[in-house]
Amino acid sequence: MLNLRKRGVATDGICPICGKEAESICHALFRCNIAKEVWSWWKECPIKICVENQDFSDIALGLLCAGTTRDLEILVVTAWAIWYNRKQCVHESKKQVAGQIWDFASSFLSNYKEASKYFQLGPAFCDVSWKKPPMGVYKINVDGATSERERNSSIGVIIRDFKGEAAAGLCRLINANFSVLETEVLAVEAGVLLAKYIGLQQIIIESNSLLPV
Ligand SMILES: [Zn+2]
Repeated sequence: MLNLRKRGVATDGICPICGKEAESICHALFRCNIAKEVWSWWKECPIKICVENQDFSDIALGLLCAGTTRDLEILVVTAWAIWYNRKQCVHESKKQVAGQIWDFASSFLSNYKEASKYFQLGPAFCDVSWKKPPMGVYKINVDGATSERERNSSIGVIIRDFKGEAAAGLCRLINANFSVLETEVLAVEAGVLLAKYIGLQQIIIESNSLLPV
């Protein structure tokens, strides 16, 4: 409402939910009746949330000192759920009770955490993770890319020992538009020649996996 008034929209500045106090971010998120009820569902909260003269950053800092990053996540997601409910009340005439808002925030956070596990796995989840070669053997990873628009191709090579430490590498732009397969073959050739150049005897080659995971 304060923002609306700043933009010249006529409002009385009173919280449209409780109709008792001037609406501010702190009132909406922490001191309005519905907000207090939502926060009361947080039984494990390590600090008092709905205290006068505390703004969002005071509460966040308090949680960082007394709690964990998980507590901070709960703070942010629950505050967002309270704010979302207010918007629904004002603009859509829909509202939820405190328990529903708390459950909505909790399940939103759990679902996000569950989904994040798969994002964090990244390439390993697709079973393309880099595997170390046996002791004494060097692994050559190569990759090639081709661009029809630029009408050129490029190759990359990296050679690592059994500890995963890089022994040599190269990348090269080729001013010709080879097919994907031809570019891969050129990358393999470059990898073998590089291994020979630095005097390696035992090698294995893998394409399309330049990055260790
Ligand atoms: Zn209110």
